[in-house]
Amino acid sequence: MRYCPACGAPVAVRRPPGDTFERHVCTACGIIHYHNPKVVVGAFCRWQDQVLLCRRAIEPRAGYWTIPAGYLELGESSEQGAIREALEEANARIEITGLLGVYNVVRIGQLQLFYRARLLSPEVAAGSETTELALFDWSEIPWQDLAFPSVDWLLRQARSVWHAPDPIVPALGP
Ligand SMILES: [Zn+2]
Repeated sequence: MRYCPACGAPVAVRRPPGDTFERHVCTACGIIHYHNPKVVVGAFCRWQDQVLLCRRAIEPRAGYWTIPAGYLELGESSEQGAIREALEEANARIEITGLLGVYNVVRIGQLQLFYRARLLSPEVAAGSETTELALFDWSEIPWQDLAFPSVDWLLRQARSVWHAPDPIVPALGP
């Protein structure tokens, strides 16, 4: 960041009094512009003994398989975000049944929350960021063609708890 989004003056990198980190601080209005990790939310969707995967239509990793996931928006909870992503990317209506995993991808500044979910209907259809959808048996998962390491992590985690009862979703705020 070179110029202050609030007033247009140059921004300097300095450590504000009492702060631990260097920040982008406006040299005119003094606003501190914080840069924090982004939150990614997603839904691992199950239909009976099958798993919903989406083939990505967009970069990065176009053509590879993932689950419905994306950036959390302001004004929504992480569960609402996961439900929205499933609707946008797969026209899938889901019920969240628990938290599957939380992954820190520090190198790219992401905190990823993936939920266990149940499809309310097997009727799904590709959204604009998806070229193809499929319900896979575990023996058919395209392990070599997954889009991101975290998709591999979450699928292995999901398989390890596949026969476990759905956990109670913790209360995560009002
Ligand atoms: Zn400013």
